Parts: sequence; structure tokens; C-alpha cells
Amino acid sequence: MSAICLSLTGKTIAEDLAALERYRDKVDLVELRVDWLNPEEQFLVRNFPSLAGLPVILTVRRRSDCGVFDEGEGVRLVIIAKALSYARSDNRANFAYVDLEDDFHVPAIEDTCRIFGTRIIRSHHDPDRIPASIDRIWGDLCQEPGVIPKLAVTPRSSAELASLITWTKTLAPRERIIVGMGDFGYPTRIMAAHLGSTFSYSSPLQAGMPMAAPGHLDPDNFISIYREKEVTRKTAIYALAGGRSITGSRSPALHNGAFRSAGIDAVYIPFPSDSAAGFLAAIEASGARGAAVTVPYKEEIIPLLESASSDVEVIGACNTIKRTATGWEGFNTDINGFERSLLEFLGRQRLDGVRATLVGAGGAAKAVAAVLSRNGASGLILNRSIAKARSLAQKHGFLWGPVDDRSLDLITEYSDLIIQSTSVGMAGGSPGDPLEWYDFNGREAVFDLIYKPERTQFLERAARSGCRVCNGYAMLCYQAAEQFRIWVGGQPPADYDPPQPEAQAPGLKE
Ligand code: NAP
Repeated sequence: MSAICLSLTGKTIAEDLAALERYRDKVDLVELRVDWLNPEEQFLVRNFPSLAGLPVILTVRRRSDCGVFDEGEGVRLVIIAKALSYARSDNRANFAYVDLEDDFHVPAIEDTCRIFGTRIIRSHHDPDRIPASIDRIWGDLCQEPGVIPKLAVTPRSSAELASLITWTKTLAPRERIIVGMGDFGYPTRIMAAHLGSTFSYSSPLQAGMPMAAPGHLDPDNFISIYREKEVTRKTAIYALAGGRSITGSRSPALHNGAFRSAGIDAVYIPFPSDSAAGFLAAIEASGARGAAVTVPYKEEIIPLLESASSDVEVIGACNTIKRTATGWEGFNTDINGFERSLLEFLGRQRLDGVRATLVGAGGAAKAVAAVLSRNGASGLILNRSIAKARSLAQKHGFLWGPVDDRSLDLITEYSDLIIQSTSVGMAGGSPGDPLEWYDFNGREAVFDLIYKPERTQFLERAARSGCRVCNGYAMLCYQAAEQFRIWVGGQPPADYDPPQPEAQAPGLKE
């Protein structure tokens, strides 16, 4: 288990102490980021450890090392020297740690630290890359006796994250801190225990303070979502693999909450990725036992699987994978998740006689089209890439068209049910309303697979026109419960139960 460190980025000492109070019961130590303080306060930090009442790391980080300190090295030296001076016999009144970069060697300061019990964290930051000379840099960081080496580097792809994780596993065990910064490095923040890191750093984001380094989480999320205080090296990893917007997904709260309720020692971690092959490499390096696959890799993953369920074969999209002894097995839980939430929304057993329009022809739309088809609906598929709309429609005997007013007559005919399955309107995706050229008449039942925001522009407009609407949250819950069954087996806990719909969609009763 790694200790949770809160990096304080206030402009004043008072702001830092207020943030510390907010998180005191959650964190094990704090890092005073002197570089974020107003210049007039930077020389006044000597008493901070007494005021904090928790172990404190002293850090004055230069801009070149991902900090915001712009003054010269002379000024930095004076700030550090003053902060460590007049050491007290009661160590709790002294800084417990000082973070000194690998090019900062001042024997007088290092001697003071040794004499008065301040541990040196010897750090190397690279905000742009994983340096080619990582072995030499690491060797240098580890050379001095008693220091805690810290390496914070920036993977530029999922493949680079995979190599960083693999490299970390070759290191001899010792006190250390290893961090991957930026989007691709995000999982390393949550996998601190797996990487053998002594601390895992966080920022007081929910207190409205800036992020101390790219990829930091708030301690509340660390603990309530990612159960960081319970995660050890042995904790099983499950991954969420998708594009860069996945760090906003609600599935980590669902799965991690369910693992906790079911007493399963596992953690579910987002891996923002740049390709299906890249995330497979990254999750294999981390020893993950399974993953949820989301936008935009549900199709790209299929040729990389060793085996696939019949749903994956039929639909041509995979949203769940499980590690077997010989490779990855693929499943599609969107299909059952969507079917259950749609039928509940409509209050029906089947869709015979329903004329439905499906907007989108991506991975999720394939599951939607299969559900419409197997439940007896007739359908129209509209998509930006018309060839994809045609190919999906032909598979199910549906009509197809472009997503613009050339499809107005068709959609008017197929408007009992309108299902939005593009990523347009999703938080972090392209903004807008894919059907802005269509006026709802208020009798349509409207389903949007997006659940964040709770109501997209499209769904809001439908609701304002008097339509019954449903977002994708219940679908997320039902498909996630199915993933739980696939990954760990047994009855999924109640964490996956979605809130009950207020009422059923009018006008579509059997
Ligand atoms: P995908 O495979 O990447 O497909 C994306 C779809 O959106 C394609 O039809 C694409 O059209 C269309 N699209 C993207 N950008 C567009 C733009 N600017 N203008 C018009 N069309 C655009 O993604 P997916 O896996 O199908 O997921 C789609 C959405 O469903 C996402 O928002 C996802 O979060 C949501 N979803 C929700 C759940 C749930 O549990 N609630 C489950 C699965 C998916 P082209 O074919 O022309 O590129």
C-alpha cells in the first residue's frame, strides 16, 4: 500500500493549511509546493511542519521540472536552506522530507538533512518523454545511501506506458517513487502500490486548487472511487480502455464500488489509450485480468482477440475482454445492457410494430441495431459515414440515410422511437445535436446512449418538445453488471442497480 501525499498548491500558507484541514483524515502526508506560494511567503515556511501536524515534504519545483518556480537557483537555495534551518530536537517540527532534483547537490544542505533526520527524495522529472537513458538516470538517483529515488517521466503513447511498467518490474525492491505523467501515465497514479511507489501524489482539486502535476487525482476520488488505501501489490487490476476522454467515465465508481461491496480485492483503472494494440500492451504489462473497451476501440480490438463470444461475432463489436491462459477472450455486454434498459424504458417485452430510427453506426450502434432487429422492430439507420450506415442496415434489413435533412421524410416515418448512439454531445467529445434539423412532435420515445452529461443538447430538446426521454446510465449499469459476472463470476452486487425510471414511455405500449 502506498501512502497518500497531498501536494499543496495554494498561493498562501493559510490557503494550504485550509486545504490540508479539508483532507486531513484522508492523507498520510503533505508536500508543501513552495513554488506555488506568493514570493513574499516563500521564505516563511520554516514553521509549516508544526502548523501542519503531519509529515511534510519540502519542494521548490522549477518550471523545467513541472513546477512553477521561475527565480534563479540562488534564490531556491536560500528558500530551502531557511526552511531546513534551526532544526528542532522534536522531529515533528522539522520537514520530514525534502525533494531535491538530481542536479541539485549542496553538501551543507545534505549534511543538515542527515543530521536532523530530514529524508532526501532525489528526483528526476521529464515533462516531455521517457528518457532513453532511464537506466543511467535511475542508477544515479539510487546512488546516495538513505535517499528515496523519484522518477517522474512522460509516456507519449500506450506502448511507452507499457515499457515504463515493464521496466519498473525489473527494478530491485526498495523505497522509491515512480510516476508516469500526463494522459498516458494516468494509470500509474492509481497503480502506485503495484509499481512499488512509497507515496502516491494527489492534488486538492475539489478545494478549487491547481493540479500540482499532470494526471493528479483529488484525494476524495483516490479513496472513494479507487480505494487507494486498500490497494496493494496483490490487488487484481481491471482496466477501462478507450480514448482520452475516459477519465470522466462513471464506470470506475460503479465497478470499484461493486468490488468493495463484494469484498473482492480488485481495482478498476482507466487507461487513456492511443490504439487497441497499445492498450493491450499496457494492460498486459500491468497484469490486468480483464478490461472494458470503449470508444473508439470496440471494433479495432476484435482482430487482436484470441476468441470471441457469438455476440461479438454477430455484432462485430467487443466492449469487454477477459484474460485467459492463452490470450484475450472478447464479449459484448452492451447488447444485453441496452436491451434491458430500452425495454424497461418502453415498458414492453418486445418491439414488434415499432418503427425506430437509430442515429450512428459505430460500435455501440451495432449492439443497438441487433437489439432492434431481434425484438421485431423495423428500423432506419442514419450516420455521418453513409457506407457504415448502409452496411449495418443491410445486415438487419433496415433502411439507411445520411444524418441531415435529406433524411427528413424517412425519419418522420420511423419516429416511434429515436435512438442516439453517436458520441456527439458526450462530455469531452464533439459538441452539438446530431438531429438539429429534425423537429420532435412530442410523441417520439427518445433514448440517448450518452449519460454524461445527464442530458445532451439532443435529449434536452426532445424533453422540451414533450417526448419521454432516457439517457444511457441504466444501460451502463446493466452492461457493467454483466462485465462483473464475466470477470469475477457470481451475482453482481446492488451497486449496479440503476435508479428506477420515473414512468414508462407513453404511446408505445404493447
Ligand atoms: P464509435 O464506435 O467510435 O462510434 C462513434 C459514432 O459517432 C459513429 O457513428 C460516428 O460516425 C459518430 N460520430 C462521431 N463524431 C461525429 C461527428 N462529429 N458528427 C457526426 N457523427 C459523429 O463509438 P461507440 O462505442 O459506438 O459509442 C458511441 C457513444 O455511445 C459514445 O458517446 C459512448 O459513450 C456511448 N455509449 C454508451 C454506453 C452506455 O453504457 N451508456 C455504451 C456504449 C457506448 P462515423 O461512423 O461517421 O464516424
